Amino acid sequence: MTAEQIDGKAFALTLREKVGTIAAEFERKAGRKAGLAVVLVGDDPASQVYVRSKGKATLAANMASFEHRLPDDVSGGALLALVEQLNQDPAVDGILVQLPLPAQLDEQQVISAISPDKDVDGFHVINAGRLAVGQDGFVPCTPLGCMMLLTSRLGDLSGLEAVVIGRSNIVGKPMAQLLLDANATVTIAHSRTKDLPAVVRRADVVVAAVGRAEMVKADWLKPGATVIDVGINRVPSNEAGKTRLVGDVDFAGASDVAGAITPVPGGVGPMTIAVLLRNTLVAAHRNAGIDLAKDAV
Ligand code: NAD
Repeated sequence: MTAEQIDGKAFALTLREKVGTIAAEFERKAGRKAGLAVVLVGDDPASQVYVRSKGKATLAANMASFEHRLPDDVSGGALLALVEQLNQDPAVDGILVQLPLPAQLDEQQVISAISPDKDVDGFHVINAGRLAVGQDGFVPCTPLGCMMLLTSRLGDLSGLEAVVIGRSNIVGKPMAQLLLDANATVTIAHSRTKDLPAVVRRADVVVAAVGRAEMVKADWLKPGATVIDVGINRVPSNEAGKTRLVGDVDFAGASDVAGAITPVPGGVGPMTIAVLLRNTLVAAHRNAGIDLAKDAV
């Protein structure tokens, strides 16, 4: 079997275009653009790249982008004061504080300071709670993007066996909640799971969010399974001194067994920013009291 590749790049592009169209309508209705504020502390090169591409994507989707850069040694008080200023700013619908933060800052305290109604990353405990009890809130972008890819491929997930590998607050746990909401039978596997290959072999749907290069092997998969690979791992390439990105799944081997699989890069990765824009659009409509159909984006 040669698995179908799930093209996250193309899906994300379509989503971004849809968001851009609705954001232009929002501007006409609200008399202002939807706005996303991104806070970057310090000069971590990877974070700088993420923040730059988020800013560009926000502008391209007809939204306003507000970038705030703070020095590496900023105090907790100064960062919290900025978050509070953004909470109060009516031009800002979504607030994202780029993680990781330098060691002197308490990430949980900073996330808790963001208004839950502007927490477009979905990391605030209020939004984690809303997801757990099935209320409207904000769902973390990466698992929501995975869910969109899954439903586009499989439609109804009712009764399917789903195994999520990894239990982080930003990927594994919310992913499991979303699959449960979609009526899948969900198992969360993690570093202490016994006989992981046997657990994964039960799954119609596998979501790998571990951070270990090519850990999930072809013979762990049930033939025809749908595989979503969240992992982003940099490994040495064949060319001396160069690196390349691989996922948590052995893509070449798995492609012979799976029914469908996301590549790395070009699978889940591009979905994250697209969903961030989507969440910001939803926040803008809620904040402005303008209706947005549930299935609009
Ligand atoms: P994390 O380090 O917070 O969590 C990893 C999880 O994997 C843990 O819950 C741990 O229990 C589990 N684990 C570790 N070793 C294991 C093993 N041997 N067997 C089974 N489970 C094991 O990571 P995270 O933030 O959830 O990210 C996971 C991966 O997804 C990383 O590669 C990260 O770069 C990637 N990621 C990608 C995106 C994206 O936009 N595509 C977004 C977030 C994270």
